[in-house]
Amino acid sequence: MKRILILIMIISMSAVVVTGCGNSNSVTNDGKYKVVATTTLVADLVKSIGGEYVNVQGLMGPGVDPHLYKASAGDVKLMQNADMVVYNGLHLEGKMGDIFENIESSKKMILAVSKDIDESNFIDFVTNPGSFDPHIWFDVKLWKGAAKTVAEGLKELDEEYASEFDANLERYLGELDELEEYINQRISEIPEDNRVLITAHDAFNYFGNAYGFEVKGLQGISTASEAGTSDVSQLAKFIVERKIKAIFVESSVPRKSIEALQEAVKAQGFQVEIGGELYSDSTGDAGTGAETYIGTFKANIDTIVDALK
Ligand SMILES: [Zn+2]
Repeated sequence: MKRILILIMIISMSAVVVTGCGNSNSVTNDGKYKVVATTTLVADLVKSIGGEYVNVQGLMGPGVDPHLYKASAGDVKLMQNADMVVYNGLHLEGKMGDIFENIESSKKMILAVSKDIDESNFIDFVTNPGSFDPHIWFDVKLWKGAAKTVAEGLKELDEEYASEFDANLERYLGELDELEEYINQRISEIPEDNRVLITAHDAFNYFGNAYGFEVKGLQGISTASEAGTSDVSQLAKFIVERKIKAIFVESSVPRKSIEALQEAVKAQGFQVEIGGELYSDSTGDAGTGAETYIGTFKANIDTIVDALK
């Protein structure tokens, strides 16, 4: 009798999984909500707040460029079968707008982590007036706002766990406070004149605003546009004039553009180091210590400070 009951339970549980799309919230067979997140950074945020109640599947791995990422048929299926889809927004996932709209119109829960941040905090997208720079995670203060939005979304998904999600949020906000202290303390090691950050694409403008760096990117805010030769020589001239010690490669942008800049500086009789690789639009690989948002930010800060101090 007991065995039959267990069998019936297993059959009905798998039925929930198979028919789990649509309006009714389903759980995976491990009892967790299925959440699909676009980037590694967004996935980490959902894991941090959702904790043991969510099973987060990220679409893009470490080092993948979200500006150019096109969802595969498998990705679309994953999103259709999820209980909730979470993305950055502000057109970071530049090729996925139609998919998000479709998901939204199917009445599935879909959430942009940037949606509740007041517009006054956003930086204009220089090359595309009227839209905003999507790289909000580089200002910890804004990412705290994103964390609150994720907590609200999860509570909407299942009110029963509201106090757990709130507790996770509080704990995580505390960790972000500590991260901010770490950032400010390390940056104080760099003389103020040396606080210039030159990277492959303009991912770091929020970082510059929040932590007092002059930021120059070689490629514009999206990686979709290539750097022209005049951009390279202008930036090279700036580096020579300001005697900048180091420029930086990014994990999700090909190395060659920043190497071309280094060569152009050399041609003007000055030596600039490549200060290391920064994580721009994703976390690091598992096992590097930079597989979380906090680990990624600390790794970046250490790379920047060690090269410019
Ligand atoms: Zn980017």
